[in-house]
Amino acid sequence: MIVNAKDMIAAAKKGKYAVGQFNINNLEWTKAVLNTAQELNSPVILGVSGGAGKYMTGFATVAAMVSAMDKSLKISVPVAVHLDHGGYDECLSCIEAGFTSIMFDGSHFEISENIKKTTELVEIAHKNNMSIEAEVGSIGGEEDGVIGMGEIADPEACKAIADLNVDFLAAGIGNIHGVYPANWKGLDFDALEKINKKTDGIPLVLHGGTGIPEEMIKRAIGLGVCKINVNTECQLSFAEATRAYIEAGKDKVGKGFDPRKLLTPGYEAIKKTVLEKMTLFGSVGRA
Ligand SMILES: [Zn+2]
Repeated sequence: MIVNAKDMIAAAKKGKYAVGQFNINNLEWTKAVLNTAQELNSPVILGVSGGAGKYMTGFATVAAMVSAMDKSLKISVPVAVHLDHGGYDECLSCIEAGFTSIMFDGSHFEISENIKKTTELVEIAHKNNMSIEAEVGSIGGEEDGVIGMGEIADPEACKAIADLNVDFLAAGIGNIHGVYPANWKGLDFDALEKINKKTDGIPLVLHGGTGIPEEMIKRAIGLGVCKINVNTECQLSFAEATRAYIEAGKDKVGKGFDPRKLLTPGYEAIKKTVLEKMTLFGSVGRA
């Protein structure tokens, strides 16, 4: 059932668990995430970056695919179709395309500009029955060519953005996109606690969920994190399973080259990763 992310995140906040955002790249990804969510009776957010949207020939294609698949797979758990790290114009395109949720990433702007653009988009999103996420303090690592330094968000700036009536807020607390380096210092829980207090209970979002140790994830959920984004981990498990299939020469046996066979181990690997994350985040059985 395709919905905006507002109610599922509010329920997560109340129940002290987090809803996973899993980024999708194609049909196999989408099918894997939707089927796993349904099997586990878990709410889910499908994340779509600008780059992934382009890859799939546009946001309208993505929205149409997800909507059709939601029906054909008889998905009854709540599913949000969410733009990940959108620019201003991308946010507008996704509203047009039929997404149910957007993230405006104004973290690279001065706070005054971030406030101005976020204010405008909050109004448009809510008018269209969509949820909206905003970001303060750029999140480290590289995502679609945008390189963040892994800042710690300023609690005052977080409050200024939270007060704009955004539905959930991504705040940098030392988390980064992609694989964490060996010398990573870990999440800054002092900062998270300050932000959580200052923003008066707004649901917080943790980006860069790949490879954050389990105890840190649980502690973050205890401090107001209700949405956790996972992207790289599904990519890694898909690649590893596909590599194993080919290295074992299975594509050369019978019709093993058929894409429906060739892509199945990767599909199963994504399902396994999503299951692990939903279990860790506590969203299983919460739909
Ligand atoms: Zn992110």
